[in-house]
Amino acid sequence: MREAHQDAVARVSEERLWRRLMEMAQIGAIPGNGVNRAALSKEDIAARKVLIGWARERNFEVGVDAIGNLFVRRPGQDAAAAPVITGSHMDSQPRGGRFDGIFGVLAGLEALQAMDEAGVKTRRPIELVAWTNEEGGRFQPCTMGSAVYTGARKLEDFLEVRDNEGVALRDALWQTLTATPGLARRPVNAPAAAYIEAHIEQGPLLENAGKTIGVVTGIQGLRWFNIEVSGRTDHAGTTPLALRQDALRSSIQIIHALHELTRDATDTVRFTVGRMLVTPNSPNSVASHVLFSVDVRHPDPATIAGLGKAVEPAARKAAGPCAITVTSTLHDDPCVFDPNVVDAVERAANALKLPSMRLPSGASHDAMYLARVCPTGMIFVPCEKGVSHNEAENAKPADLAAGARVLTAALLELANK
Ligand SMILES: [Zn+2]
Repeated sequence: MREAHQDAVARVSEERLWRRLMEMAQIGAIPGNGVNRAALSKEDIAARKVLIGWARERNFEVGVDAIGNLFVRRPGQDAAAAPVITGSHMDSQPRGGRFDGIFGVLAGLEALQAMDEAGVKTRRPIELVAWTNEEGGRFQPCTMGSAVYTGARKLEDFLEVRDNEGVALRDALWQTLTATPGLARRPVNAPAAAYIEAHIEQGPLLENAGKTIGVVTGIQGLRWFNIEVSGRTDHAGTTPLALRQDALRSSIQIIHALHELTRDATDTVRFTVGRMLVTPNSPNSVASHVLFSVDVRHPDPATIAGLGKAVEPAARKAAGPCAITVTSTLHDDPCVFDPNVVDAVERAANALKLPSMRLPSGASHDAMYLARVCPTGMIFVPCEKGVSHNEAENAKPADLAAGARVLTAALLELANK
């Protein structure tokens, strides 16, 4: 690493990063150390104002695009060059933690500030972004900001989406943009030279392996299905079992068959049935109708494709006397990160003598969309017992600072290409 780069990395402040994380955690704080900061809510607006204030203290230009993605820019020597982008999200789950998303945003700010303090120059501009509505807790779907930025979806597709109170995204977005005036207006599909996102792992692998840095190789693919099982309701006391079309019993057999289908020796496949609606849902009536969700994930494209195709036939075979309908509700292919960005992250961890390991991301992230338009990678740091989307989410200040240092070094490498 060059001397100026070493100086910038050394100026990443564990104390300042932690202090800012704790200040942000006050915005939307809920009992149990958690955070409820829904996208485009008054809490989100408050967090945006704090971030804008910190950026302006350093005289960084702050901009916003039509979906509300917030950008903080540190100029490069070549003003015409596409920027290297880093960032994550500031919204949270309704019962979210203090680190999911916001760590990547504040680690990016820490990187920009450390570079500034060291007086280091980069060829390309470096931009920090806070993507709008990553979580999808208030407005669905999730990862809206990055979907619009990368052109995967159009802003117009989302404007009429409503939250549980009936508020349209159009109005919440307008409120957010008017509450944060004076920002440079940016085009929606501005080009990027590369993207790196720092994030807590949200799983237990780094902690269990005793590693500080996760060099993320990609994001696993997923398939979602709704399975509807139709039978006939009958009296629980009088109808012989052999004559029943019990939709709940068939559902259990189907779930068991899918569990067998997805069993693997390496425990890499993820299989979840997390939602089930039973009709009539009465203790002394045979269930006539059951609707349940299926979520299957794997990082390997061929494996997830094969599993996705096998769900419906396996479910039909196990359905017994009931009729079933299988509907695909979500289909994300695995994303494989750019080898140059993955290597840059690994090199940075090695140069800083931080123990690291390569791993795929189990959760979806904005990086999934960015990977479609520019070389992309991610940096993970451990979180306590892998707990996330939970008030108890926790991470160590030293690990978070280590992640910010790796981010700074990797950004410097990519911004000089
Ligand atoms: Zn997140």
